[in-house]
Amino acid sequence: SDHALDYPRSPQLMDWSQIYPHINTATNNKQVEIADIGCGFGGLLIDLGPAFSETLILGMEIRVQVTQYVEDRILALRHQHAENAYKYDNIGVIRGNAMKFLPNFFARGQLRKIFFCFPDPHFKQRKHKARIVTNTLLSEYAFVLREGGVIYTITDVEDLHEWMVKHLDEHPLFERLSKEWEDQDECVKIMYNSTEEGQKVTRNKGSKWVACYKRLPNPEDC
Ligand code: SAM
Repeated sequence: SDHALDYPRSPQLMDWSQIYPHINTATNNKQVEIADIGCGFGGLLIDLGPAFSETLILGMEIRVQVTQYVEDRILALRHQHAENAYKYDNIGVIRGNAMKFLPNFFARGQLRKIFFCFPDPHFKQRKHKARIVTNTLLSEYAFVLREGGVIYTITDVEDLHEWMVKHLDEHPLFERLSKEWEDQDECVKIMYNSTEEGQKVTRNKGSKWVACYKRLPNPEDC
């Protein structure tokens, strides 16, 4: 249950040095700017890391053992690359329920990119409210995302894709990015191939649906 989850009362109280021990987050004033929600086994983090080597990237995962696996995987990569210029110091993982505690970890406008890769589909009608994209949650994602920031979604479940598109389209703070934008975006390319779930879909010759949305300015700021 959530009682066992460790989360800060506010983002200022979070000690990021445990997650990024080789980056002096306090003196450099560095903050997480990319979040992978429900990161699973960490494939996206591992490919985004070197592509955005100056940016702190965080995976959030609710399952304890899976989080531990990703943590061990990152430690092994850092060890393996100790002599290299790039050492995977900018990627990290945290156990957390992203549907409840996101604003405890991230301040307003802190994030540049949020990824939802192959989220759990919750097929049954009565389980739809458990989906990671809902009106209420989108307002939270909009809060932690800066203006111009991007929400990335990908799924192999067409019904879930349509659900995410419908809710994002209806939300006043998000605007869908074009197919042309998707085609030239580096992260779309990475997201398409890097996650463990995405690789499974490729092996099974399944389809993948992508939708990306830009965070619009708050109406009161215009
Ligand atoms: N993104 C990964 C990939 O593409 O390989 C994993 C996809 S898997 C189908 C969905 C993941 O989301 C699972 O690892 C699950 O434990 C995690 N998850 C589900 N609900 C969550 C929540 N509320 N907060 C954080 N993670 C969650």
